[in-house]
Amino acid sequence: MQPIIVKSMKVFTTNQSLHPCLASLKTPASSLGFVPTMGALHQGHLSLIKRAIKENETVVVSIFVNPTQFNNAGDLETYPRDLKQDLKKIESIGSLGEIIVYAPSEAAVYGNSVTKEAFDFGGLELQMEGKFRPGHFQGVGTVVQKLLDIVGPNQAYFGEKDFQQLQIIKKLVKMTKANVKIVACSIEREPSGLAMSSRNIRLTTGERSHASKIYEALKMTKDKFSDTPLDEITQWVADQFEKDAIINLEYFEISEQLTLQPANKIEPQKKYRAFISAYIRNIRLIDN
Ligand code: AMP
Repeated sequence: MQPIIVKSMKVFTTNQSLHPCLASLKTPASSLGFVPTMGALHQGHLSLIKRAIKENETVVVSIFVNPTQFNNAGDLETYPRDLKQDLKKIESIGSLGEIIVYAPSEAAVYGNSVTKEAFDFGGLELQMEGKFRPGHFQGVGTVVQKLLDIVGPNQAYFGEKDFQQLQIIKKLVKMTKANVKIVACSIEREPSGLAMSSRNIRLTTGERSHASKIYEALKMTKDKFSDTPLDEITQWVADQFEKDAIINLEYFEISEQLTLQPANKIEPQKKYRAFISAYIRNIRLIDN
């Protein structure tokens, strides 16, 4: 394996210090990649950062727990935060390029008004996560728009782990005519199949084995999809979760990939994706 050389990593917490640095690095030909995160970084985040490093001269990673996308105060409070560890993890990637970490305060992003915009994403925001986390995507849209304005990247990287969010960000960029390419990155998983998530660290070892039920159900759905009626698949998934006292299914949905409308009948020219949200205690896990 080739040795990895860390050229440099700079950390900024204010826009006043970030902007001169970005201005000094940007040439008309150079490309700036952006990876927005809420920290508590894991291999899923690192895979986005690595891809951004490959595809851009400079990469900005933001670490900001966005208050306006939490519809549950307890979830916001218990969301893991550890900037020191996050910086170590980013440093461990190494890079021949420039990595800039932007870890702003609430005031740097929102000024003195921590409010969300009432975006209409054409119905994308009303399905699944939108139904169960009212206002969530308004908060996501608000912070992503603000961060894109602050950073001004050529390309921004988002994980398919949050597939509905990814579709909404693409829509946001179209609606606002923002000059940025949205790059979709595949889901990183634990060996058990459990999708990596910042929330996983709150699971006990025993709970982790129950959490892998989510991936098993999605895999079976894929296998059954071509020859089993949708309502039978849905019932089968519900039954699997019913049998498990540790994990509680919040929703299972097979949706058309672009509109995220629930699939009623399958049209061969369209693509479909299955989505699950489930709880272990108060820990909410999503996958697709
Ligand atoms: P978060 O910190 O949860 O807001 O996530 C920041 C970005 O990382 C989002 O674009 C997520 O979709 C992405 N991400 C989170 N978990 C994973 C994963 N397991 N695989 C790939 N991307 C992920």
